[in-house]
Amino acid sequence: MSVNEAMPDLLRNWIADQEVPAASGETVPKLSPHDGSHLYNLTRSARLDVERAVSAARAAQPAWAGLTAVARGRVLSGIAAAMRDHEDDMGRVVARETGKSLREAVGEVRGAAQLAEFFAGEGMRLYGRSLQSGVPGKYTHTIRQPHGVAALIVAANTPIANIAWKVFPALICGNAAVLKMAEDAPATALLFAHIAAEAGLPAGVLNIIQGLGAEAGQALVEATVDVISFTGSTGVGRRIAASAGERLVRLSLELGGKNPLVVCDDADLDNAVKWTLLSAFSNAGQRCAASSRIIIFDAVYDAFVEKLVAGTQLLKLGNTDACDLGPVINERQLMAMLAVIDEMRGRGATVLAGGRRLDGAHAAGFYLAPTLLADIDPADPHADRELFGPVTALYRASGYEAAIRLANSTSYGLTASIHTRSVDRAVDFAQRVRAGTVNVNAGTYGSEPHYPFGGFGASGNGTREPGVEALDVYSETKTISFLVEAARL
Ligand code: NAD
Repeated sequence: MSVNEAMPDLLRNWIADQEVPAASGETVPKLSPHDGSHLYNLTRSARLDVERAVSAARAAQPAWAGLTAVARGRVLSGIAAAMRDHEDDMGRVVARETGKSLREAVGEVRGAAQLAEFFAGEGMRLYGRSLQSGVPGKYTHTIRQPHGVAALIVAANTPIANIAWKVFPALICGNAAVLKMAEDAPATALLFAHIAAEAGLPAGVLNIIQGLGAEAGQALVEATVDVISFTGSTGVGRRIAASAGERLVRLSLELGGKNPLVVCDDADLDNAVKWTLLSAFSNAGQRCAASSRIIIFDAVYDAFVEKLVAGTQLLKLGNTDACDLGPVINERQLMAMLAVIDEMRGRGATVLAGGRRLDGAHAAGFYLAPTLLADIDPADPHADRELFGPVTALYRASGYEAAIRLANSTSYGLTASIHTRSVDRAVDFAQRVRAGTVNVNAGTYGSEPHYPFGGFGASGNGTREPGVEALDVYSETKTISFLVEAARL
C-alpha cells in the first residue's frame, strides 16, 4: 500500500520497510462503523511476527540513536511536511475506518503533524542539566539517552493522533519502535508507515504490528523491549503493568477516565450546555477526556437539563461534515453500552435522551443515539465504569462542596471542568479536583501537543505524554561528573 494506491484487501504488518503478512496466514475482518460493510482484512499477528518486528527495531536502533538529535528532528520535520501534503489521503483513511467526518479526520491529521513539528524542535532542545557539586573541582551534568526498543500500543478512537503521541517522542529520543496498532484502525497505521518511510525514516526504525490485543498486543508486552507505552483501557493497563513490573520494563500508561463537568448555580448555562454536548458526544463520546458525569447544582438543574435535552435532540448523526457525531468503533462496543444502559434503567435510572441503537438509514451502522441518563445512584456499580461512547450521566449537587465530593468520587482522575462566574470557585476547584487536566468554562478535553496529559488514580501510572514530559518516558537520564585536580593541571 502506498499513499496513492487504492486500499488493499489485506492490511499487513510493516517490518523493516516491507509489508509482511503474519506467519499464521490468518486474518481478522475490519468492518465500516458507518454501515457495517466489510472494508478489508488485517493480518492476525502473533508472537513470531512480534519477534521479527522487535528484531528489526533492535537492528535499526543503534544507527538511529547514532544520529544527532538535531538530525533526527530533521527527519521528523520531513514526516510532518509529508503528512500535511497527504492530509486528505490520510483523513479519508481515518474517516473510513472510524466513521467520523472527513473534516474531523483531516483535523486530526493536522494535529498529528503538529506533534511531529513539536518533537522535531525538541531535537534541538534535548537538554540535560548542569549541576553544582559540593566537591571542589567537580563538574556535573545530565544527558538523556534512549532506552532502545519502544513497544507502543494504542486505541483506535483518534488513531493518527494516538500514533503521533507516542511515535514522535519515542523517535526523537533515539529509540526504534514497534507499534501494535488498534485492530479497528489498521490502515491508518500502515499509511502512516509508508508516509514516514517516503519522508526518509530509515528502515526498521518504525515497525507496525497488526492484530488482536490479546494476541499481538500481549506478545509485544512480553517481548524483549525496553519501554512500553500503552494508551487504552484501565483493565488492560493493569495487566500490562503486572507483566512489565515483573521484568522492570519502563512503562507509561494512558488509561481511561470518568470525567466530571460541574455546572454551578452562577454558570453561563448556554455555554455550559454547548461544552457538555461537545465533551460528551463529539467523536461519539470516544475520548478518554469525554465528560461522562455532569454534576449540576440543584438551583439550576431543571433549567440546565431542559436546555441540554433540547440540544441533544438537535444533534445530527452521520459521517458527513454537517454531522455532530458518528458511530462508535465496533458492534461489540455498541452492544456492551446498550447492555449497561438497560441494566441501569432496571435499577431506576431515567433515560432523558437516546438509550437506543439508531434505526432507519443508520440501522446497519454502529450508531448509539446520544444518551442522557439521570437519577443514578452514585454508588451504582456502573457509576465508576467508563463506557467510551455517547453516554453521559447527570447528577444533582446541593452546593459547591457536594459537587466537589461527587467530582472526586470515582477511581479515575483524568480531566475535569467547572462552569462558574466565580474566580474563587474556579481557583479552589482547580486545586482540589483529582484530575490531571482542569478546564474552566470549557469542556473536559482539548489537549495540545505541548501540554502534558495524564491522570490521577486509575487513569494512568503517573507519566505524562506528550509535551516535554513525554521525553521523560522515552529516555533515561545519565549523570556525568568530571573531577579536576590541581596537581594534573
Ligand atoms: P483496549 O484497552 O481494549 O485496547 C487498546 C489497545 O490495546 C488496542 O490496540 C488493543 O488491541 C490492545 N490490547 C488489548 N488487549 C491487550 C492485551 N491483553 N495486551 C496488550 N495489548 C492489548 O481499549 P479500547 O477500548 O480500544 O480503547 C478505549 C480505551 O482507551 C478507553 O479506556 C480510553 O479512555 C482509553 N484512552 C486513553 C487515552 C489517554 O490518553 N489516557 C487516550 C485514548 C484512549
